[in-house]
Amino acid sequence: MGSTKTVAYFFDPDVGNFHYGQGHPMKPHRLALTHSLVLHYGLYKRMQVYRPYRATVHDMCRFHSEDYIDFLQRVTPQNVQNFTKSLQQFNVGDDCPVFPGLFNFCSMYTGATLEGAVKLNNNICDIAVNWAGGLHHAKKFEASGFCYVNDIVIGILELLKYHPRVLYVDIDIHHGDGVQEAFYLTDRVMTVSFHKYGNHFFPGTGDMYEVGAEGGKYYSLNVPLKDGIDDHNYRQLFNPIMQQVVEFFRPTCIVLQCGADSLGCDRLGCFNLSVKGHGECVSFMKGFNLPLLVLGGGGYTVRNVARCWTHETALLLDEEVNNELPYNEYFEYFSPDFTLHPDTSTRIENCNTKGYLEQIRQTINDNLKSLSHAPSVQMHDIPPDLFSLEVVEEPDPDIRESVQDQDNRIEPANEYYDGDKDQDRDNDLDV
Ligand SMILES: [Zn+2]
Repeated sequence: MGSTKTVAYFFDPDVGNFHYGQGHPMKPHRLALTHSLVLHYGLYKRMQVYRPYRATVHDMCRFHSEDYIDFLQRVTPQNVQNFTKSLQQFNVGDDCPVFPGLFNFCSMYTGATLEGAVKLNNNICDIAVNWAGGLHHAKKFEASGFCYVNDIVIGILELLKYHPRVLYVDIDIHHGDGVQEAFYLTDRVMTVSFHKYGNHFFPGTGDMYEVGAEGGKYYSLNVPLKDGIDDHNYRQLFNPIMQQVVEFFRPTCIVLQCGADSLGCDRLGCFNLSVKGHGECVSFMKGFNLPLLVLGGGGYTVRNVARCWTHETALLLDEEVNNELPYNEYFEYFSPDFTLHPDTSTRIENCNTKGYLEQIRQTINDNLKSLSHAPSVQMHDIPPDLFSLEVVEEPDPDIRESVQDQDNRIEPANEYYDGDKDQDRDNDLDV
């Protein structure tokens, strides 16, 4: 069975080679594993595979402050001692370390998200996928939670040039705080985040009474969950809530952050979702038949992240794939079962009682009712002035041109392994 949707998939062969540092849970190598499974399942044959555009300082400064991005561009492990004050100011250090090639890493994952948005705007694809993106914690002036540049906010700003209403959905185990904050005062972007909340779980925001403010009141929706939520409970909340949100908000496109740290057995997580349960959210959102930008996010048990995003790539393509994994260069990571759907259930107790879930549902219902009566549903001429968003009638020729320049469409998958097409390779990259 083939998909009727055109899927554009972005992958930079260098993105899996970055290291946050010894012992750091965020491992970009998970992207190499994911891509390897996507290739060996033959999924690349069903989609447009692109080596993405690399975001410039200018692109990043559409959301971030210039001095923060200037710092990211200049700091290296060699000169970091000269930046003591900036490190503190921009929250760079422990969780968000300075590692070799940091700026290039940001440029790759942000460029792919931005190019995905441009292709959706131009109807070149129905679905754009960037598993390297989805770094939802980054703030305008600082890094946070392993995230430096907020590719999601930058991608949504691009979508807003063509789309009156963008829906952002976040199924990472952590609250999508950076995206919520960026659009907290506007009704043109509705943010919905399902996440663990309580006991000082990072980042500490996202209770169900955070609903947006001023013109954006009721356009932020939070679904705070407790430890151990399983597929059944998650579906019971996710499906009806998202159905209602789409009916009330009537988005013209959807951005879905698919953080895989909400799976059972995640190194930093405490939920109990299976790869199939996680994927059901992706299928459900795809079912609205709206332009869809699909992004990665957290995910710290590398083998399961690769399984999850491979499964979700297949779902987006309406492709059935074998549970038995194809042989690939990372095969030993998937020991002992070598399957796409291993048992990820844990002994973590499901603390989401019937009463608690009911309370969430009730509060969310009340918020959505307020939304349906909100006076500002017709929002086509209300550009948010939260930051310097230029709402332009015509696409930005600079961006369009540079994306097309770099738009090296890659047909056969083996081009990644044959000759070295990468001329921008970073010399100081520790690979
Ligand atoms: Zn996360």
